[in-house]
Amino acid sequence: MAPSVFTTTILSAFATLSVVQAKTPTYDFVVVGGGTASLAVASRLSRYLPNNTVLVIEAGPDGRDVPGIYVPGMKGITLGGVYDYNFTTVAQTQAGGRSWAQNRGKVLGGSSALNLMCWDRASVAEYDAWEHLGNPGWNWDSMITSMLKVENYTQSVYPGQEIDQGVGVDGPIHATINRIQPKDQDTWIPTMENLGFPENMESLDGNPLGVSIQPNNIDTAKYTRSYSPEYLRIAGDNLLVMTEAQVVKINTEKIHGKVVATGVTLKNNIKINARKEVILSAGSFLSPALLELSGIGNSSIITAAGIKPVLDLPTVGENLQDHIRIQNSFKLKNMTSFDELKYNATFKAEQLALYNTNNVSSYDYAASGFAYLTWPQALGNESATALIKTALKATNAKASIIDKTKLDFMIGKQSHTIPQLEIIFSDGYTGVGGYPLANSSAYGSNYYTLLSVIMHTLSRGNVHINTSNPLGKPIIDPRYLSNPYDLSAAIAATKLNRKIASTAPMRDIIASEYEPDSSIQTDQQWRDFALNHTLTIYHPLGTCAMLPKKEGGVVDPELKVYGTKNIRIVDASVIPVQLSAHIQTAIYGIAERAAEMIAAEYST
Ligand SMILES: Cc1cc2nc3c(=O)[nH]c(=O)nc-3n(C[C@H](O)[C@H](O)[C@H](O)COP(=O)(O)OP(=O)(O)OC[C@H]3O[C@@H](n4cnc5c(N)ncnc54)[C@H](O)[C@@H]3O)c2cc1C
Repeated sequence: MAPSVFTTTILSAFATLSVVQAKTPTYDFVVVGGGTASLAVASRLSRYLPNNTVLVIEAGPDGRDVPGIYVPGMKGITLGGVYDYNFTTVAQTQAGGRSWAQNRGKVLGGSSALNLMCWDRASVAEYDAWEHLGNPGWNWDSMITSMLKVENYTQSVYPGQEIDQGVGVDGPIHATINRIQPKDQDTWIPTMENLGFPENMESLDGNPLGVSIQPNNIDTAKYTRSYSPEYLRIAGDNLLVMTEAQVVKINTEKIHGKVVATGVTLKNNIKINARKEVILSAGSFLSPALLELSGIGNSSIITAAGIKPVLDLPTVGENLQDHIRIQNSFKLKNMTSFDELKYNATFKAEQLALYNTNNVSSYDYAASGFAYLTWPQALGNESATALIKTALKATNAKASIIDKTKLDFMIGKQSHTIPQLEIIFSDGYTGVGGYPLANSSAYGSNYYTLLSVIMHTLSRGNVHINTSNPLGKPIIDPRYLSNPYDLSAAIAATKLNRKIASTAPMRDIIASEYEPDSSIQTDQQWRDFALNHTLTIYHPLGTCAMLPKKEGGVVDPELKVYGTKNIRIVDASVIPVQLSAHIQTAIYGIAERAAEMIAAEYST
């Protein structure tokens, strides 16, 4: 295809059009990526600046009619498939030498099309920390205002599960507590209460500590996944979305020492001009990669890749943080679970028919209970103190501002309000070994899983382009478990899962421990289990951090890349430090806030 003449599929906010463009197309704003943050920032911008044009360029296709995406109970089946970049880490030397999966959505909606639909928020102090880190105006008050704009919350059909505080009601993304709740889940809150962990249904209002039933981003109208393409419904017709088009470079020139973006180049060498800004929204792995492909980043990496450096910014791709999880699965006694969908074809067909006629179905299910705890709550004072000592010992005097912030979350003035551990009650098997094979005696068994997530891991890594194949998959090295605190925390968490499952009334529904089984008893066995079974819960962030430059920042508080006039980043990569929550609500909130900032700059 000749450069600057192309045929592609362009979606307007409401319709799919095929168009032929005959000259270099020019838009006011070009948004790279059509993912979680991208569609939110682009749609709002199209409304706030109706006289401007906004183009979204998404590498993947439109998957809005794909059941694996829109049916909540099919969550997870798209992982490893055509809508997934299927990234993996380099071998994690401190984590059993394993290469860990790093799934990311390559589809309209990005990772919001693939995610597991947990809808939650962190504590007030953690958003306030963004401001203390050097980002004026980024705090709980501004973030909750933005996050409420995202949300359209429908109350649970179950009495006692209402959420009164901290939920929005007129945003584009729908959320609710699921109408289908598994029988084994009835034991969740009573068991946790018996262990002294209090119930807290108001966990979305900046005080997440306690035990509750988890909201999911589901639209109750037809019980479908509610995700970022919903934003297109509120967009203006000055927004265009191009799918299956990969940006390979941000085009720049230098004016008065500043890098100015003029547009982007697509894989087939087509150029698209941006009159005002390029908004990079390609996610925590691909936003830093695209900066490097454009010559912005660590010059030695860029030069080694055969690319001409444009701006030396060695912080690009550094500061990679991710939540780790470890899980214990238990075999149920006299009770079925959603595992039945895996082994009973008749049941599966019945449930699918119910779903397709908008009746209550097992396919409605997304996730169940969760709890957020401080270490003293989870482990008791003595064990908590020992674990926190490990964290302090593993962090030296030259610790970064990020590590210091995390330690402050553990021992500072607000530590009693900040969760360090999340425990998810999830119906069905969700482990490392896989559901039992059809020819095994355990096939047909039913399980539930307790998943523990470490909220503020101290291992940090990086992501960069592959210098021998710059347009190939990025080299991802989160350095999982490289800080001894993370491994100790994972071991404490999986042991606690066993304790929870052996407490009444939960212990009465269990036939046996499945993964790990009850033979795991010694410290060495727990350690080996943790080394081999700790996984990501898919929350990479921080690789283009919003921080002062001298502290490792890539973007300033206006989300502009240091040294550039008009390249902004709007996605998970700008979050400076981990939150004690799944991160989609924060990412949508950042996008809402970014749209307001950009509109304010160009309305005058
Ligand atoms: C399996 C999984 C489960 C998760 N579960 C949860 C959960 O339950 N709750 C929760 O809160 N969070 C969850 N998360 C995390 C959350 O979904 C992500 O953090 C979030 O969606 C990331 O948003 P983003 O805007 O940063 O990037 P993305 O949504 O990944 O968007 C980036 C987009 O940019 C596109 N792109 C990249 N490079 C280019 C290019 N060069 N040209 C054109 N387009 C490009 C990509 O194709 C993609 O669409 C989960 C994530 C995964 C993967």
